[in-house]
Amino acid sequence: MDYFEYQGGILHAEDIPLPRIAEEIGTPVYVYSRATLERHAQVFRDALKDIPRKHIAFAIKCNPNLGVLRVLARQGYGADVVSGGELERALASGMAPQDIVFSGVGKTRAELALGLDRGIGQFNIEHEPEGVALAEIALAKEMTAPAVLRVNPDVDAGTHAKISTGKAENKFGVGIDVAPDIFGRLAGLPGLQMRGIALHIGSQLTSLAPLEAAFERVGRLVADLRAAGHSITHVDLGGGLGVPYRPDDDPPSPADYGAMVARVTKDWDVTLMFEPGRVIAGNTGVLLTEVLWVKPGATHDFVIVDAAMNDLARPALYDAYHDFVAVEPTGEKMTASIVGPVCETGDTFARDRVIDKVKAGDLAVFRTAGAYGATMASTYNSRSLVPEVLVDGERYAVVADRIAAGTIMAAERVPDWID
Ligand SMILES: *Cc1c(COP(=O)(O)O)cnc(C)c1O
Repeated sequence: MDYFEYQGGILHAEDIPLPRIAEEIGTPVYVYSRATLERHAQVFRDALKDIPRKHIAFAIKCNPNLGVLRVLARQGYGADVVSGGELERALASGMAPQDIVFSGVGKTRAELALGLDRGIGQFNIEHEPEGVALAEIALAKEMTAPAVLRVNPDVDAGTHAKISTGKAENKFGVGIDVAPDIFGRLAGLPGLQMRGIALHIGSQLTSLAPLEAAFERVGRLVADLRAAGHSITHVDLGGGLGVPYRPDDDPPSPADYGAMVARVTKDWDVTLMFEPGRVIAGNTGVLLTEVLWVKPGATHDFVIVDAAMNDLARPALYDAYHDFVAVEPTGEKMTASIVGPVCETGDTFARDRVIDKVKAGDLAVFRTAGAYGATMASTYNSRSLVPEVLVDGERYAVVADRIAAGTIMAAERVPDWID
């Protein structure tokens, strides 16, 4: 459910007609709906109503825009961050340090120190040496770092290989079989307060079964750790819930997820932490683009739009599907491949798809682009960095400027020893 709807035959973001944004800001541009974002935040929280003690940390890597984060901060959300840069963003958006969880497989010592200095709520330790380093840094600062150990439950999340993170061969966490020993050694270190376990098995999950299997393994681990004398007060269940990208996709709802979590964890007696990303932000954004040309091809027509793989990388990276609809559809259809201007065949959003009939100059959107969209943008082919707009009812604001290719070039230098 989102607030991108046709009114009078024109696609709107809440009460703003998209042609107005195209005219005033230009294209391509990401457009987010505040009402949609708030609704998703509330639906997810409501879905956890049967969990007595919980903490929700938005996985900000999926959409770190400060305006978006501020909306979620006001919803009581904290942040799951995976770099020092994300940590500073979460704080800049108004989130409390205590509400920030630091994940990530390759935190540097400087980033661990930054987390301590800022007083964040939890470090998710990825392997023993990282925990040892964190303990040393904390001790030197006469601090104690609240931490959990990320385990790799070795389940197949059933998602795209590039976003599957909980199989034994993936780089994340420690094997659940070796977790008790590692946890025991880390718990003995001054400077660390080892308080629980974390896991995150992958993204865009379309079935609850792998999550449930992973949670059950973690439940047994928690019991084993307690039997060994450890105090386990927190379990971080990660994120991963999928969203519908195709019109007929039907991923599990937050309510189904919440009911499963409540059932599986009912005897755990811990604070449960959640790190949802895509399910909060995915449907809150579209990428608005203009059709540049319709070019006849040998086998099918090409719709060439002014957005490209540098603006929305998911199709090129993961063969991801994004629904493409005209802003002012005529009701007629055409079959075409949708491509961007970048000089790579990978710059393809859709192959041979039946879409709204469009012609040069028409506006269209890629839907469900609010997560892993703008944040993955680059300036490849010396294109501008795509701007972002946040709509709130009848008003909107540019929440990230278009950064012109010339501005990027201005940060480069030709050494004077090249003559
Ligand atoms: C990416 C990530 C998430 C969020 O995943 P979604 O599929 O967007 O919900 C949560 N936790 C960790 C550790 C992550 O790396």
